[in-house]
Amino acid sequence: MARTEPDSCPGVLRLHEAADGPLARVRVPGGALAPEQLQALAAAAGELGDGNIELTSRGNVQLRRVRDADALAERLAGAGLLPSRTHERVRNIIASPLSGRVGGHPDIRPLVAAFDAGLLGSPRLAELSGRVLFTLDDGRGDVSPLRPDIGLHLLTDNRCALLLAGTDSGIRIATADATEVLLAAAHGFLELAAGQWRLHEIEDGAARLATLLGLAPGPERLALADSADLPIGWLPQHDGLVALGAGVRLGSLPARTAEFLAAVERPVLLTPWRGLIVTDLEEWPAEQVVRVLAPMGLIFDAASPWLRITACAGQPGCARSHTDVRADAAAAIESGRTDLPDAALPEAPIPAASITTAGRQHWSGCERRCGRPAAAVTEVTAGPEGYRVRPPRT
Ligand code: SF4
Repeated sequence: MARTEPDSCPGVLRLHEAADGPLARVRVPGGALAPEQLQALAAAAGELGDGNIELTSRGNVQLRRVRDADALAERLAGAGLLPSRTHERVRNIIASPLSGRVGGHPDIRPLVAAFDAGLLGSPRLAELSGRVLFTLDDGRGDVSPLRPDIGLHLLTDNRCALLLAGTDSGIRIATADATEVLLAAAHGFLELAAGQWRLHEIEDGAARLATLLGLAPGPERLALADSADLPIGWLPQHDGLVALGAGVRLGSLPARTAEFLAAVERPVLLTPWRGLIVTDLEEWPAEQVVRVLAPMGLIFDAASPWLRITACAGQPGCARSHTDVRADAAAAIESGRTDLPDAALPEAPIPAASITTAGRQHWSGCERRCGRPAAAVTEVTAGPEGYRVRPPRT
């Protein structure tokens, strides 16, 4: 069915009027933040927002209850976080966060930079829907499962697979041609879209886009994993330095914690799993980072139940929500009720305090289930009469 309205994804220049006030979304291609940029976000969250930086499932960030939109845009532009006023909402680019530092895969970062520059350099591509997702996977298979509209998956240094509408198209291209092909695919999406926001919404979208590109699929198909291991804890880099992967409780990073992170003066990577990675640390400073930031709530333990649970905004940020879903989820985690493998799944709605679950979960304030991960999760969904708990499914 054709859509009749443009997408309403927020940006820095077009805020979303959430129930708790104006919300700004800042695109961070590849999730890469310089320390000064993280400091600028922390200061903006503290002085112009509600005091938190929300991490999104696309490795972007959001600020809530923005009090002065012009001041925010000016600050973010000054920090290099708003390089284009026309293209800001279309820079939804997720890349393998550890690429070039950890694991024996080719470095995807130059391709991220080249593709972002290509997007910004094409006036026509400013017309893309703010929902179109691009992924660049260095071959480890961590971000290809995120169902991009258009994605690249390196097979070797010189050869890659083109993903279309969330699956391997069967098209193989030379890495040297990758940026050109991705940009051509983005233009092709616009030709086919007729108002649709995502490639999978277009009938035979992937096949028609392949035809438009003049590229024929081969017989091979990548078997994409359902999900990836989260980068958490101590991660030795190729160069002898250390990266530290940290989980962020329900994706909400207090500005004060972000200021401490920025003060480490190392690049920080936002992950599409609502966490972050502090990179390029020597061992002693890495130990100090854990010592200071773990008590502030950052999670360096891969076994923490907080890492298995995501939640939508809920009340007070979303007018559709039946409850303060984050508070309910946090109470369940803290009381150990989200870690009970033998928990029964009741048919009828139940109150938040009666919920017992286990494994990966997504908690939502209504049936829209915003931010639900692509992987199989138990769904804990609020309704007018309480929560429904549904077993894991994709
Ligand atoms: S799932 Fe429902 S309550 Fe939660 S953010 Fe989306 S619309 Fe709002």
